[in-house]
Amino acid sequence: MAASRTIIVAGAGIGGLTAALALAAHEFRVVLCEQAERLEEVGAGIQLSPNASRVLTGLGLTEKLAPHIVAPQAVSIRLAQSAREVARIAFDDVSFRYGAPYWVIHRGDLQAVLHEAAIANPDIALHLGTQVHDFALHAHGVTAELRHGVTAGNERGIALVGADGVWSTLRTRLGETPRPQFRNRTAWRALVDAERVREAFRAPIVHLWLGQDAHLVHYPVCGGRRINIVAIVVDREQHVRWSTPGRREEVLRLFGPTGWARAARELLEVPDEWLKWSLFDCAPLPSWGRGAMTLIGDAAHPMLPFLAQGAAMAIEDGATLAKCLSEKDEAVATALRRFEHRRRKRTARVQRTARKTGDLYHLGGPLAFARNLTLMALGGEKLRERYDWLYDWRV
Ligand SMILES: Cc1cc2nc3c(=O)[nH]c(=O)nc-3n(C[C@H](O)[C@H](O)[C@H](O)COP(=O)(O)OP(=O)(O)OC[C@H]3O[C@@H](n4cnc5c(N)ncnc54)[C@H](O)[C@@H]3O)c2cc1C
Repeated sequence: MAASRTIIVAGAGIGGLTAALALAAHEFRVVLCEQAERLEEVGAGIQLSPNASRVLTGLGLTEKLAPHIVAPQAVSIRLAQSAREVARIAFDDVSFRYGAPYWVIHRGDLQAVLHEAAIANPDIALHLGTQVHDFALHAHGVTAELRHGVTAGNERGIALVGADGVWSTLRTRLGETPRPQFRNRTAWRALVDAERVREAFRAPIVHLWLGQDAHLVHYPVCGGRRINIVAIVVDREQHVRWSTPGRREEVLRLFGPTGWARAARELLEVPDEWLKWSLFDCAPLPSWGRGAMTLIGDAAHPMLPFLAQGAAMAIEDGATLAKCLSEKDEAVATALRRFEHRRRKRTARVQRTARKTGDLYHLGGPLAFARNLTLMALGGEKLRERYDWLYDWRV
């Protein structure tokens, strides 16, 4: 590949793959390096709000995503103990209102569709089993130091994009930056066949149950064939970096009968396998890049999942990066700083809002009572309007 239009992207997660496709659509050549030997179908459900689905649609992926997505009709918010619905946010006019749909999907399915599109694109060279270990900036751009097993090599490009996730190596290479902090929450995740849950839970609805120090989210994924379940609890114990197996009995103990209605516990009894996932986030970083290097996605702004925007922000970053690099005839470093400037305020707001949302979800006693009254008083329409700033985004 000629270095003059070549951009190196480190990490083929949701952000790296989207960035690669968006850059290729703007006639860049992309060398996409992923440390994993295979892109496995890992993870659980991901919500793709209109701000993210708009980008994926713009990349021409609608048809490929269609068999995998579910378009929820509403978010139903219930109280854990009584199962009473306190608010219902209707999604039936989302496409009309925001010009793009609201989807839910399994992370593995989304990554597989993006991966397929990347390998079919002649302007993207995907190197699996290749870690970007370090980089050197110079007058002509950047040289990335690659590791492939025991062998090492270099790749030159006009820019390097660190899309290497929450534990980003490239972020640490940038210099002193805060490390992600454990936020005393554990997410228990499971995926089950749809026919194993009660009919009401198979409907295209995102269910959110609010309990004291815990909440539960579940919705159909894989075109409705499976149900994604995420149960989040306050937890002082930090588990290893990524997910670790957990036992059903432990989930049922944490979501005990005094605090949780029968229907919720019945659902939590279904999965044979659970994975535990410690939750981390980070204060907004002082810097995302230097010279011809920048960060995107979780590498740039690790966030808690309570606003369901981790993948969406990575997708927005990818599209914005490609636009900034292509819209003016200017030095690459200037375009990258403009990209960072455009993204920092919004992603910091999402990080902050995600944290506050988690606190609100887990209230107990009189504060929970006040929250519930507010939810009921506002009603679905007003609650949705509070997210206009998030969903009505365009690159
Ligand atoms: C395995 C996995 C499962 C997830 N499951 C969920 C989920 O169920 N629900 C949810 O909301 N969010 C989930 N997330 C988080 C969510 O996907 C992210 O918020 C969002 O996708 C951000 O994407 P990203 O591309 O920034 O980072 P990631 O999706 O984390 O991707 C980073 C990629 O970079 C690769 N990488 C790391 N270091 C290097 C390096 N030095 N060189 C080359 N490659 C490198 C990693 O192997 C990974 O493929 C998951 C993330 C991962 C990695």
